[in-house]
Amino acid sequence: MSYRVVNPYNGELIKEFPAATDEEVEQALTDANNFYKQAKKQPIEQRAEQLAALADEFTKRADYYANFLTANMGKLISEARGEVKKTVAFARYYVENGAAALVDQDYTAMAGRKAHLEFSSIGAVVAVEPWNFPYTQVMRVFAPNFILGNPVILKHASIVPECAQAFDDACKAAGLPTGAFKNIFATYDQVNQMIGDPRVQGVALTGSEKAGELIAAEAGRNLKKSTMELGGTDVCIVLNDADLKKAVAGAVSGRLRNAGQACTSAKRYLVQSGIYDEFLTAIKKEFAKYQSGDPLNEKTTLAPLSSKSAQQNLQKQVKAVLDGGAKVLWGDPTAVEGPGAFFKPLIISGMTYDNPMYDHELFGPVAQLYKVDDEKGIVELANHSNYGLGGAIYSEDLDKAHKLASKIETGQIAVNQPLSSLPELPFGGIKKSGYGRELSNLGIREFANIKTVLG
Ligand code: NDP
Repeated sequence: MSYRVVNPYNGELIKEFPAATDEEVEQALTDANNFYKQAKKQPIEQRAEQLAALADEFTKRADYYANFLTANMGKLISEARGEVKKTVAFARYYVENGAAALVDQDYTAMAGRKAHLEFSSIGAVVAVEPWNFPYTQVMRVFAPNFILGNPVILKHASIVPECAQAFDDACKAAGLPTGAFKNIFATYDQVNQMIGDPRVQGVALTGSEKAGELIAAEAGRNLKKSTMELGGTDVCIVLNDADLKKAVAGAVSGRLRNAGQACTSAKRYLVQSGIYDEFLTAIKKEFAKYQSGDPLNEKTTLAPLSSKSAQQNLQKQVKAVLDGGAKVLWGDPTAVEGPGAFFKPLIISGMTYDNPMYDHELFGPVAQLYKVDDEKGIVELANHSNYGLGGAIYSEDLDKAHKLASKIETGQIAVNQPLSSLPELPFGGIKKSGYGRELSNLGIREFANIKTVLG
Protein backbone atom coordinates (compact mmCIF):
# COMPACT_ATOMS: atom_id res chain seq x y z
CA MET A 1 0.00 0.00 0.00
CA SER A 2 1.32 3.43 -0.84
CA TYR A 3 0.25 6.99 -0.29
CA ARG A 4 0.40 8.94 -3.55
CA VAL A 5 -0.35 12.46 -4.65
CA VAL A 6 -1.72 12.51 -8.20
CA ASN A 7 -2.88 15.96 -9.29
CA PRO A 8 -6.57 15.45 -10.22
CA TYR A 9 -6.41 18.33 -12.70
CA ASN A 10 -3.77 16.79 -14.98
CA GLY A 11 -3.10 13.26 -13.72
CA GLU A 12 0.51 14.08 -12.87
CA LEU A 13 2.13 11.99 -10.14
CA ILE A 14 3.55 14.54 -7.71
CA LYS A 15 4.88 12.51 -4.83
CA GLU A 16 4.76 9.07 -3.25
CA PHE A 17 5.18 8.15 0.39
CA PRO A 18 5.93 4.62 1.63
CA ALA A 19 3.59 3.04 4.14
CA ALA A 20 4.68 3.28 7.77
CA THR A 21 6.85 0.59 9.31
CA ASP A 22 5.61 -1.25 12.39
CA GLU A 23 8.39 0.49 14.34
CA GLU A 24 6.96 3.89 13.38
CA VAL A 25 3.53 2.80 14.53
CA GLU A 26 4.95 1.59 17.85
CA GLN A 27 6.84 4.88 18.30
CA ALA A 28 3.63 6.84 17.60
CA LEU A 29 1.77 4.83 20.24
CA THR A 30 4.57 5.28 22.79
CA ASP A 31 4.75 9.02 22.19
CA ALA A 32 0.98 9.34 22.33
CA ASN A 33 0.82 7.50 25.62
CA ASN A 34 3.58 9.68 27.10
CA PHE A 35 1.69 12.79 26.03
CA TYR A 36 -1.51 11.41 27.57
CA LYS A 37 0.20 10.89 30.95
CA GLN A 38 1.99 14.23 30.80
CA ALA A 39 -1.17 16.13 29.89
CA LYS A 40 -2.95 14.78 32.98
CA LYS A 41 -0.52 16.85 35.09
CA GLN A 42 -0.88 20.05 33.08
CA PRO A 43 -3.57 22.71 33.13
CA ILE A 44 -5.95 22.91 30.17
CA GLU A 45 -4.95 26.55 29.70
CA GLN A 46 -1.49 25.44 28.60
CA ARG A 47 -2.96 23.30 25.83
CA ALA A 48 -5.35 26.11 24.88
CA GLU A 49 -2.32 28.35 24.30
CA GLN A 50 -0.66 25.66 22.19
CA LEU A 51 -3.81 25.16 20.13
CA ALA A 52 -3.99 28.93 19.60
CA ALA A 53 -0.42 28.75 18.28
CA LEU A 54 -1.53 26.06 15.80
CA ALA A 55 -4.40 28.29 14.65
CA ASP A 56 -1.87 31.14 14.23
CA GLU A 57 0.40 28.91 12.17
CA PHE A 58 -2.43 28.03 9.75
CA THR A 59 -3.41 31.70 9.58
CA LYS A 60 0.13 32.98 8.95
CA ARG A 61 0.82 30.55 6.11
CA ALA A 62 -2.71 30.09 4.83
CA ASP A 63 -1.76 30.04 1.14
CA TYR A 64 1.01 27.52 1.74
CA TYR A 65 -1.45 25.11 3.40
CA ALA A 66 -4.25 25.83 0.89
CA ASN A 67 -2.04 24.87 -2.06
CA PHE A 68 -1.69 21.30 -0.80
CA LEU A 69 -5.48 20.92 -0.82
CA THR A 70 -5.66 21.95 -4.46
CA ALA A 71 -2.71 19.83 -5.54
CA ASN A 72 -3.79 16.70 -3.66
CA MET A 73 -7.55 16.54 -4.18
CA GLY A 74 -8.26 19.26 -6.72
CA LYS A 75 -10.20 21.72 -4.55
CA LEU A 76 -10.71 25.18 -6.06
CA ILE A 77 -8.05 27.46 -4.64
CA SER A 78 -10.70 29.86 -3.27
CA GLU A 79 -12.43 26.96 -1.49
CA ALA A 80 -9.03 25.73 -0.29
CA ARG A 81 -8.38 29.11 1.37
CA GLY A 82 -11.88 28.87 2.85
CA GLU A 83 -11.06 25.45 4.26
CA VAL A 84 -7.90 26.74 5.93
CA LYS A 85 -9.96 29.55 7.50
CA LYS A 86 -12.52 27.06 8.76
CA THR A 87 -9.76 24.85 10.16
CA VAL A 88 -8.58 27.87 12.14
CA ALA A 89 -12.16 28.60 13.31
CA PHE A 90 -12.54 25.04 14.61
CA ALA A 91 -9.29 25.35 16.55
CA ARG A 92 -10.16 28.76 17.96
CA TYR A 93 -13.59 27.57 19.09
CA TYR A 94 -11.94 25.01 21.36
CA VAL A 95 -9.23 27.47 22.46
CA GLU A 96 -12.01 29.72 23.72
CA ASN A 97 -14.68 27.25 24.79
CA GLY A 98 -13.01 23.88 25.35
CA ALA A 99 -12.23 24.30 29.04
CA ALA A 100 -15.75 25.51 29.83
CA ALA A 101 -17.23 22.35 28.29
CA LEU A 102 -15.12 20.26 30.67
CA VAL A 103 -15.78 21.90 34.04
CA ASP A 104 -17.39 19.67 36.64
CA GLN A 105 -21.15 19.46 36.28
CA ASP A 106 -23.18 19.54 39.46
CA TYR A 107 -25.75 16.74 39.46
CA THR A 108 -27.21 17.29 42.93
CA ALA A 109 -30.55 18.71 41.83
CA MET A 110 -31.00 16.09 39.09
CA ALA A 111 -29.99 13.16 41.31
CA GLY A 112 -31.72 14.29 44.51
CA ARG A 113 -28.45 13.67 46.38
CA LYS A 114 -25.03 15.28 46.36
CA ALA A 115 -23.21 14.30 43.18
CA HIS A 116 -21.23 15.75 40.29
CA LEU A 117 -19.68 14.73 36.97
CA GLU A 118 -16.04 15.08 36.02
CA PHE A 119 -14.75 15.04 32.44
CA SER A 120 -11.26 13.67 31.83
CA SER A 121 -9.04 12.19 29.12
CA ILE A 122 -9.04 8.45 28.35
CA GLY A 123 -6.05 7.85 26.02
CA ALA A 124 -5.14 8.02 22.37
CA VAL A 125 -7.76 8.39 19.66
CA VAL A 126 -7.10 7.06 16.15
CA ALA A 127 -8.62 9.39 13.54
CA VAL A 128 -9.33 7.83 10.13
CA GLU A 129 -10.12 10.73 7.85
CA PRO A 130 -11.25 11.33 4.25
CA TRP A 131 -9.86 13.39 1.41
CA ASN A 132 -12.81 15.73 0.82
CA PHE A 133 -11.90 18.23 3.57
CA PRO A 134 -8.38 17.14 4.46
CA TYR A 135 -7.70 19.75 7.19
CA THR A 136 -11.09 20.56 8.69
CA GLN A 137 -11.97 16.90 9.22
CA VAL A 138 -8.71 16.39 11.10
CA MET A 139 -9.09 19.54 13.19
CA ARG A 140 -12.65 18.51 14.16
CA VAL A 141 -11.19 15.53 15.94
CA PHE A 142 -7.84 16.93 16.99
CA ALA A 143 -8.82 20.25 18.62
CA PRO A 144 -11.35 18.90 21.16
CA ASN A 145 -9.26 15.86 22.01
CA PHE A 146 -6.08 17.89 22.44
CA ILE A 147 -7.81 20.27 24.87
CA LEU A 148 -9.18 17.26 26.75
CA GLY A 149 -5.73 15.65 26.88
CA ASN A 150 -6.27 12.80 24.43
CA PRO A 151 -3.49 12.41 21.82
CA VAL A 152 -4.58 11.84 18.22
CA ILE A 153 -2.94 9.50 15.72
CA LEU A 154 -4.04 10.23 12.15
CA LYS A 155 -4.57 7.74 9.34
CA HIS A 156 -5.47 10.01 6.45
CA ALA A 157 -6.85 9.06 3.02
CA SER A 158 -4.09 7.66 0.82
CA ILE A 159 -4.62 10.33 -1.89
CA VAL A 160 -3.89 13.34 0.36
CA PRO A 161 -0.57 12.48 2.03
CA GLU A 162 0.91 15.95 1.60
CA CYS A 163 -2.09 17.43 3.44
CA ALA A 164 -1.64 14.89 6.22
CA GLN A 165 2.06 15.69 6.46
CA ALA A 166 1.35 19.44 6.33
CA PHE A 167 -0.99 19.16 9.32
CA ASP A 168 1.71 17.27 11.21
CA ASP A 169 4.31 19.87 10.22
CA ALA A 170 1.97 22.66 11.36
CA CYS A 171 1.71 21.02 14.80
CA LYS A 172 5.51 20.91 15.00
CA ALA A 173 5.88 24.50 13.80
CA ALA A 174 3.39 25.61 16.46
CA GLY A 175 5.46 23.87 19.16
CA LEU A 176 2.91 21.26 20.17
CA PRO A 177 4.33 18.62 22.49
CA THR A 178 5.62 15.35 21.01
CA GLY A 179 2.90 12.72 20.89
CA ALA A 180 -0.03 15.14 20.91
CA PHE A 181 -0.57 14.60 17.18
CA LYS A 182 1.04 12.18 14.78
CA ASN A 183 0.34 11.46 11.13
CA ILE A 184 1.04 7.85 10.21
CA PHE A 185 0.89 6.47 6.67
CA ALA A 186 -0.73 3.39 8.11
CA THR A 187 -1.96 0.30 6.29
CA TYR A 188 -5.45 -1.01 7.12
CA ASP A 189 -3.79 -3.78 9.17
CA GLN A 190 -1.85 -1.21 11.15
CA VAL A 191 -5.07 0.74 11.80
CA ASN A 192 -6.59 -2.44 13.20
CA GLN A 193 -3.50 -3.09 15.31
CA MET A 194 -3.71 0.41 16.75
CA ILE A 195 -7.42 0.01 17.53
CA GLY A 196 -6.58 -3.18 19.42
CA ASP A 197 -3.71 -1.59 21.36
CA PRO A 198 -4.53 -0.78 25.00
CA ARG A 199 -2.94 2.67 24.65
CA VAL A 200 -5.68 3.56 22.16
CA GLN A 201 -9.10 4.15 23.66
CA GLY A 202 -11.11 5.46 20.74
CA VAL A 203 -11.47 5.67 16.99
CA ALA A 204 -13.13 8.43 14.98
CA LEU A 205 -13.95 7.84 11.32
CA THR A 206 -15.27 10.11 8.63
CA GLY A 207 -15.81 8.23 5.38
CA SER A 208 -17.99 5.76 3.54
CA GLU A 209 -20.56 3.38 4.96
CA LYS A 210 -18.34 0.43 3.99
CA ALA A 211 -15.32 1.80 5.88
CA GLY A 212 -17.67 2.57 8.78
CA GLU A 213 -18.87 -1.02 8.99
CA LEU A 214 -15.31 -2.37 9.03
CA ILE A 215 -13.83 0.11 11.47
CA ALA A 216 -16.83 0.12 13.82
CA ALA A 217 -16.68 -3.69 13.87
CA GLU A 218 -12.98 -3.59 14.77
CA ALA A 219 -13.67 -1.04 17.50
CA GLY A 220 -16.55 -3.16 18.79
CA ARG A 221 -14.45 -6.32 18.82
CA ASN A 222 -11.96 -4.48 21.03
CA LEU A 223 -14.61 -2.67 23.08
CA LYS A 224 -13.31 0.72 22.07
CA LYS A 225 -15.48 3.80 21.82
CA SER A 226 -16.05 4.99 18.24
CA THR A 227 -17.70 7.83 16.37
CA MET A 228 -18.84 7.37 12.78
CA GLU A 229 -19.43 10.30 10.45
CA LEU A 230 -20.54 8.54 7.27
CA GLY A 231 -22.36 9.32 4.07
CA GLY A 232 -25.71 10.82 3.30
CA THR A 233 -28.36 11.51 0.66
CA ASP A 234 -29.44 14.80 2.16
CA VAL A 235 -32.60 16.52 0.99
CA CYS A 236 -33.08 20.13 0.02
CA ILE A 237 -36.81 20.75 0.49
CA VAL A 238 -38.34 23.72 -1.32
CA LEU A 239 -41.89 24.53 -0.28
CA ASN A 240 -44.34 26.56 -2.39
CA ASP A 241 -43.85 29.61 -0.19
CA ALA A 242 -40.04 29.57 -0.35
CA ASP A 243 -38.06 32.63 -1.36
CA LEU A 244 -37.04 31.27 -4.78
CA LYS A 245 -33.77 33.18 -4.99
CA LYS A 246 -32.64 32.00 -1.56
CA ALA A 247 -33.71 28.41 -2.25
CA VAL A 248 -31.94 28.28 -5.60
CA ALA A 249 -28.73 29.78 -4.23
CA GLY A 250 -28.73 27.31 -1.32
CA ALA A 251 -29.63 24.32 -3.47
CA VAL A 252 -26.99 25.02 -6.08
CA SER A 253 -24.11 25.87 -3.75
CA GLY A 254 -25.22 23.06 -1.45
CA ARG A 255 -24.83 20.60 -4.31
CA LEU A 256 -21.86 21.98 -6.26
CA ARG A 257 -19.44 23.28 -3.64
CA ASN A 258 -16.35 21.10 -3.31
CA ALA A 259 -17.37 19.65 -6.72
CA GLY A 260 -20.29 17.95 -4.99
CA GLN A 261 -18.07 15.92 -2.69
CA ALA A 262 -19.44 16.67 0.77
CA CYS A 263 -21.30 14.35 3.10
CA THR A 264 -23.95 17.02 3.67
CA SER A 265 -24.30 18.05 0.02
CA ALA A 266 -27.88 18.70 -1.07
CA LYS A 267 -28.16 15.48 -3.04
CA ARG A 268 -31.96 15.28 -3.42
CA TYR A 269 -34.06 18.34 -4.26
CA LEU A 270 -37.66 17.78 -3.07
CA VAL A 271 -39.67 20.59 -4.62
CA GLN A 272 -43.36 21.30 -4.08
CA SER A 273 -45.41 21.35 -7.28
CA GLY A 274 -46.41 25.03 -7.02
CA ILE A 275 -42.82 26.24 -7.33
CA TYR A 276 -41.33 23.30 -9.28
CA ASP A 277 -41.23 24.83 -12.78
CA GLU A 278 -39.74 28.12 -11.62
CA PHE A 279 -37.20 26.27 -9.48
CA LEU A 280 -36.16 23.98 -12.34
CA THR A 281 -35.71 26.89 -14.77
CA ALA A 282 -33.61 28.74 -12.22
CA ILE A 283 -31.33 25.85 -11.24
CA LYS A 284 -30.67 24.94 -14.88
CA LYS A 285 -29.54 28.53 -15.40
CA GLU A 286 -27.30 28.42 -12.33
CA PHE A 287 -25.80 25.00 -13.12
CA ALA A 288 -24.95 26.25 -16.62
CA LYS A 289 -22.79 29.02 -15.12
CA TYR A 290 -20.33 26.55 -13.57
CA GLN A 291 -17.08 26.35 -15.53
CA SER A 292 -14.59 23.57 -15.00
CA GLY A 293 -10.88 24.17 -15.40
CA ASP A 294 -7.63 24.51 -13.51
CA PRO A 295 -8.55 24.69 -9.81
CA LEU A 296 -5.63 27.08 -9.29
CA ASN A 297 -7.24 29.56 -11.68
CA GLU A 298 -9.45 31.94 -9.70
CA LYS A 299 -11.98 32.02 -12.57
CA THR A 300 -12.68 28.27 -12.43
CA THR A 301 -15.93 27.52 -10.62
CA LEU A 302 -16.09 23.72 -10.87
CA ALA A 303 -13.13 21.69 -9.71
CA PRO A 304 -12.22 18.21 -10.90
CA LEU A 305 -13.21 15.31 -8.68
CA SER A 306 -10.62 14.10 -6.21
CA SER A 307 -9.20 11.32 -8.39
CA LYS A 308 -9.61 9.35 -11.59
CA SER A 309 -11.11 6.50 -9.60
CA ALA A 310 -13.71 8.85 -8.07
CA GLN A 311 -14.57 10.01 -11.61
CA GLN A 312 -14.87 6.43 -12.92
CA ASN A 313 -16.92 5.35 -9.92
CA LEU A 314 -19.37 8.23 -10.34
CA GLN A 315 -19.61 7.55 -14.08
CA LYS A 316 -20.54 3.94 -13.30
CA GLN A 317 -23.06 5.03 -10.70
CA VAL A 318 -24.74 7.49 -13.10
CA LYS A 319 -24.96 4.80 -15.79
CA ALA A 320 -26.64 2.50 -13.28
CA VAL A 321 -29.02 5.32 -12.25
CA LEU A 322 -30.05 5.84 -15.89
CA ASP A 323 -30.22 2.09 -16.64
CA GLY A 324 -32.51 1.86 -13.62
CA GLY A 325 -35.05 4.17 -15.29
CA ALA A 326 -34.10 7.71 -14.23
CA LYS A 327 -33.50 10.37 -16.88
CA VAL A 328 -31.24 13.34 -17.40
CA LEU A 329 -33.21 16.58 -17.07
CA TRP A 330 -30.24 18.80 -17.71
CA GLY A 331 -26.57 18.17 -18.56
CA ASP A 332 -24.49 15.73 -20.52
CA PRO A 333 -23.83 12.32 -18.95
CA THR A 334 -21.01 11.33 -21.31
CA ALA A 335 -17.62 10.88 -19.71
CA VAL A 336 -15.00 13.62 -19.85
CA GLU A 337 -11.94 12.35 -21.73
CA GLY A 338 -8.39 13.24 -20.77
CA PRO A 339 -6.12 13.00 -17.76
CA GLY A 340 -8.19 15.30 -15.49
CA ALA A 341 -10.82 13.85 -13.14
CA PHE A 342 -13.57 16.15 -14.42
CA PHE A 343 -17.27 15.40 -14.25
CA LYS A 344 -19.98 17.40 -15.98
CA PRO A 345 -22.81 18.54 -13.68
CA LEU A 346 -26.14 16.78 -14.10
CA ILE A 347 -29.72 17.19 -12.96
CA ILE A 348 -31.56 13.90 -12.86
CA SER A 349 -35.24 13.12 -12.40
CA GLY A 350 -37.40 10.00 -12.34
CA MET A 351 -35.47 8.27 -9.58
CA THR A 352 -37.82 5.67 -8.08
CA TYR A 353 -37.58 3.50 -4.99
CA ASP A 354 -36.98 0.43 -7.17
CA ASN A 355 -34.04 2.04 -8.97
CA PRO A 356 -31.02 0.00 -7.80
CA MET A 357 -29.15 3.28 -7.21
CA TYR A 358 -31.88 4.91 -5.11
CA ASP A 359 -30.26 5.72 -1.76
CA HIS A 360 -26.70 5.43 -3.05
CA GLU A 361 -24.50 8.38 -2.24
CA LEU A 362 -23.56 10.11 -5.52
CA PHE A 363 -20.36 11.91 -4.56
CA GLY A 364 -20.08 14.57 -7.24
CA PRO A 365 -22.03 17.29 -9.08
CA VAL A 366 -25.20 15.25 -9.68
CA ALA A 367 -28.51 16.57 -8.33
CA GLN A 368 -31.68 14.50 -8.15
CA LEU A 369 -34.95 16.37 -8.59
CA TYR A 370 -38.34 15.23 -7.27
CA LYS A 371 -41.71 16.95 -7.66
CA VAL A 372 -43.83 16.52 -4.54
CA ASP A 373 -47.42 17.64 -3.98
CA ASP A 374 -47.79 17.96 -0.25
CA GLU A 375 -46.00 17.78 3.07
CA LYS A 376 -46.99 14.16 3.63
CA GLY A 377 -45.24 13.19 0.38
CA ILE A 378 -42.18 15.24 1.31
CA VAL A 379 -41.80 13.55 4.68
CA GLU A 380 -42.31 10.09 3.18
CA LEU A 381 -39.71 10.68 0.45
CA ALA A 382 -37.19 12.42 2.70
CA ASN A 383 -37.32 9.61 5.24
CA HIS A 384 -37.30 6.82 2.66
CA SER A 385 -33.55 6.47 3.08
CA ASN A 386 -31.12 4.34 4.98
CA TYR A 387 -29.14 7.50 5.64
CA GLY A 388 -29.96 10.29 8.07
CA LEU A 389 -27.25 12.92 8.06
CA GLY A 390 -28.64 16.38 7.32
CA GLY A 391 -30.85 18.45 5.08
CA ALA A 392 -32.29 21.88 4.38
CA ILE A 393 -35.81 23.33 4.19
CA TYR A 394 -36.76 26.51 2.35
CA SER A 395 -40.02 28.24 3.34
CA GLU A 396 -40.94 31.77 4.35
CA ASP A 397 -43.20 30.33 7.06
CA LEU A 398 -40.68 29.59 9.80
CA ASP A 399 -43.19 27.87 12.04
CA LYS A 400 -44.16 25.48 9.24
CA ALA A 401 -40.48 24.88 8.37
CA HIS A 402 -39.61 24.03 11.97
CA LYS A 403 -42.57 21.65 12.32
CA LEU A 404 -41.46 19.93 9.12
CA ALA A 405 -37.85 19.85 10.34
CA SER A 406 -38.97 17.84 13.39
CA LYS A 407 -40.39 15.14 11.11
CA ILE A 408 -37.25 14.60 9.03
CA GLU A 409 -35.12 11.69 10.28
CA THR A 410 -31.65 13.23 10.36
CA GLY A 411 -29.11 14.36 12.90
CA GLN A 412 -29.26 17.97 11.73
CA ILE A 413 -31.22 20.23 9.41
CA ALA A 414 -30.98 23.85 8.28
CA VAL A 415 -33.79 26.29 7.51
CA ASN A 416 -33.41 28.77 4.64
CA GLN A 417 -29.69 28.10 4.29
CA PRO A 418 -27.50 25.22 3.15
CA LEU A 419 -26.34 22.96 5.97
CA SER A 420 -22.79 23.65 6.99
CA SER A 421 -20.58 22.46 9.84
CA LEU A 422 -20.17 25.22 12.42
CA PRO A 423 -17.78 24.89 15.35
CA GLU A 424 -20.38 25.79 17.97
CA LEU A 425 -23.03 23.30 16.78
CA PRO A 426 -23.08 19.49 17.09
CA PHE A 427 -22.48 17.70 13.79
CA GLY A 428 -23.47 14.09 13.05
CA GLY A 429 -26.10 11.72 11.79
CA ILE A 430 -28.38 8.80 12.51
CA LYS A 431 -29.19 5.53 10.68
CA LYS A 432 -26.42 4.55 8.20
CA SER A 433 -24.97 8.06 8.41
CA GLY A 434 -23.34 6.95 11.62
CA TYR A 435 -23.34 7.94 15.25
CA GLY A 436 -21.71 10.31 17.66
CA ARG A 437 -21.32 14.06 17.40
CA GLU A 438 -18.36 16.21 16.44
CA LEU A 439 -17.77 19.90 17.21
CA SER A 440 -19.44 21.99 19.96
CA ASN A 441 -19.50 21.12 23.67
CA LEU A 442 -20.83 17.64 22.77
CA GLY A 443 -17.92 16.83 20.45
CA ILE A 444 -15.35 17.39 23.20
CA ARG A 445 -17.14 14.87 25.44
CA GLU A 446 -17.25 11.98 22.92
CA PHE A 447 -13.92 10.57 24.06
CA ALA A 448 -14.03 11.83 27.65
CA ASN A 449 -14.35 9.76 30.75
CA ILE A 450 -17.58 11.13 32.21
CA LYS A 451 -17.00 10.18 35.81
CA THR A 452 -19.82 10.22 38.34
CA VAL A 453 -18.73 11.36 41.79
CA LEU A 454 -21.31 10.58 44.45
CA GLY A 455 -21.34 12.43 47.77
P1 NDP B 1 -13.40 5.57 2.29
O1 NDP B 1 -14.47 5.51 3.29
O2 NDP B 1 -12.87 4.28 1.76
O3 NDP B 1 -12.17 6.41 2.88
C1 NDP B 1 -12.22 7.22 4.03
C2 NDP B 1 -11.03 6.92 4.92
O4 NDP B 1 -11.15 5.61 5.45
C3 NDP B 1 -9.69 6.92 4.19
O5 NDP B 1 -8.69 7.39 5.06
C4 NDP B 1 -9.47 5.46 3.89
O6 NDP B 1 -8.14 5.12 3.65
C5 NDP B 1 -9.97 4.85 5.18
N1 NDP B 1 -10.35 3.44 5.13
C6 NDP B 1 -11.23 2.85 4.29
N2 NDP B 1 -11.36 1.55 4.61
C7 NDP B 1 -10.55 1.31 5.67
C8 NDP B 1 -10.25 0.16 6.44
N3 NDP B 1 -10.82 -1.01 6.21
N4 NDP B 1 -9.37 0.29 7.45
C9 NDP B 1 -8.78 1.47 7.69
N5 NDP B 1 -9.03 2.60 7.01
C10 NDP B 1 -9.90 2.52 6.00
O7 NDP B 1 -13.89 6.46 1.10
P2 NDP B 1 -13.37 6.53 -0.42
O8 NDP B 1 -12.26 7.48 -0.46
O9 NDP B 1 -13.09 5.17 -0.97
O10 NDP B 1 -14.66 7.12 -1.13
C11 NDP B 1 -15.72 6.26 -1.52
C12 NDP B 1 -17.07 6.86 -1.24
O11 NDP B 1 -17.22 7.05 0.15
C13 NDP B 1 -17.30 8.24 -1.82
O12 NDP B 1 -17.64 8.19 -3.16
C14 NDP B 1 -18.39 8.75 -0.93
O13 NDP B 1 -19.62 8.24 -1.35
C15 NDP B 1 -18.02 8.16 0.41
N6 NDP B 1 -17.27 9.14 1.25
C16 NDP B 1 -17.98 9.90 2.09
C17 NDP B 1 -17.33 10.86 2.84
C18 NDP B 1 -18.10 11.72 3.77
O14 NDP B 1 -17.66 12.82 4.07
N7 NDP B 1 -19.22 11.25 4.26
C19 NDP B 1 -15.89 11.10 2.72
C20 NDP B 1 -15.23 10.22 1.83
C21 NDP B 1 -15.92 9.28 1.11
P3 NDP B 1 -7.58 4.91 2.15
O15 NDP B 1 -7.70 6.21 1.48
O16 NDP B 1 -6.18 4.47 2.39
O17 NDP B 1 -8.43 3.85 1.52
